[in-house]
Amino acid sequence: MGQRTWSSERTARLGELATLTRASATGIARELSKQFGIAVTRSAVIGKASRMRLELPGAHGRLVERVNPPPRPPRPPKQRTRPMPATPEPRIRFLDLGDENCTLAELHEDSCRWPLGDPRDPDFRYCGRAKVKDRPYCKHHLRRAYVDGGKR
Ligand SMILES: [Zn+2]
Repeated sequence: MGQRTWSSERTARLGELATLTRASATGIARELSKQFGIAVTRSAVIGKASRMRLELPGAHGRLVERVNPPPRPPRPPKQRTRPMPATPEPRIRFLDLGDENCTLAELHEDSCRWPLGDPRDPDFRYCGRAKVKDRPYCKHHLRRAYVDGGKR
């Protein structure tokens, strides 16, 4: 039983048997003996397996290399189909009144008195644009007054 026992072919076969069939050292020894027509002993198998860092069932000692399970394919990330928040539309200012809105205190005779918002709201404003002569509202609001609620 010299070095020649473990030709690369036999060594490969040993590895195969150990990892694929999970045969015991005895089983492997028997198999190798049969296959290659040589006398392979159980202890030779154990010794070689240990040098190859193969783990043999039923063998003891520091045999360790575990065959790692094939890595799992990475799971595709869960698709969370949360719709992208739509770009918020710019708030359309109430009738595009510009900066002329004014408070009650700021109203003067020529200011449109069209109320904007809730009078109880501290931000309550009046339109404040120049009103149409003899009318309480600006041109714009005059039209609105007639269209929306100004049925006479
Ligand atoms: Zn107005």
